Parts: sequence; C-alpha cells; structure tokens
Amino acid sequence: MKKPIWVQGQLNDMFSFRETAKHSEYGGYGYVGNSRMNKATHDAIMMAYYLAEQPLEFSQGGLNNGVEGASAKTHDGLGVADTRTTAIGISKDEAFRVISFGMDCGVILFARGMGGPDSMVPHLHGVMVGMRSTMHPDTYDQIYANDWGYADGGGGLEGRKSARWWGPPRKPLVTWENSKYNPKNGWKP
Ligand SMILES: [Zn+2]
Repeated sequence: MKKPIWVQGQLNDMFSFRETAKHSEYGGYGYVGNSRMNKATHDAIMMAYYLAEQPLEFSQGGLNNGVEGASAKTHDGLGVADTRTTAIGISKDEAFRVISFGMDCGVILFARGMGGPDSMVPHLHGVMVGMRSTMHPDTYDQIYANDWGYADGGGGLEGRKSARWWGPPRKPLVTWENSKYNPKNGWKP
C-alpha cells in the first residue's frame, strides 16, 4: 500500500532522530522542536503513527517538570511524550488505531480528552513500556501500578484510581526493544 508523503517523512524522521544531550538521572535525549525525548520514545510513537497512517505532532516531551499541572510529575523524566489529536484532525477512531499499534510498538498511548473519563485537552499521553530507569516513578506507575495502571486494566490516572482503561482492547505488554516493528529486529517499510 502506497503511503502518503507525510508518512514517508515520518519514517525518515525516525531513522534520523539522534540523542544529542544527556540527563544525569534519566539518560540520553534529543529534540523535536522544544520537546525532549529519548530515541526509543520518539521512534516507537513515530512507528505507531506510521502504521496507523496518521499525521504526528508532538505537543510535549519530557524533562518538563511543572509545565503542565494536569500531568502531575509524569513529564518530569523521559520515556514519555504527548501528541496532538483533534487539533490536527485525528478522530477518536483514528486515534484508537494509533493506540492499538502503539501497544505493538512498546508504548501505551492514553487517550485524554477524547470522550474517556477525563476532561483534558484532547491528546495522547504516551508512556514507554518497561523503560523504568528513563522515567519518573509516577510515569512508570501509569502502566504498572496495581489496579489503576494500564497492565491491570486501569486508566493510568493516579488522581482517579477508579477510572478504567478507555481505548481499544489491551494487548500483552511488549517493549520497543523487542517489538516486531522495531527496524533493529528486521522490520522493513
Ligand atoms: Zn502527557
């Protein structure tokens, strides 16, 4: 299937993204505009959008403590990034497609402000599977906490632990390192 030009551009971005700086606690990172993220986070999210054939715009990366109150501390470290949805014409169904591919790419994309149990500005809040040493503990908990973490069927909202996962059907956790869509594991366009 022929991909739109912007999708091919995403793939080029993925292969050319570099970590150009290093945080003493959370490790290496690079930039997309002003947003900081490590290469795994960048590439996993990029691949999920590529596979779902949706345009990608990051709205927030990591090392961003205190910038967005609603995020608590989840953007303090790395292994986390937000992307735009409604603002660039991505519907709920299209976002769910991205989220589902994200599960195969080692990133859990929480749908926020898109009809689920929260009233945030519409976006996807992406948290990397397994990459504990690169992120703030609150971010890691969004996937792994008992009851309110994604792995336990939760919505990843520490302030609203009763909220359940709202999105396409969950899949078993896989890391980007082990993803079948990681080019390092032989995946080709
Ligand atoms: Zn976020």
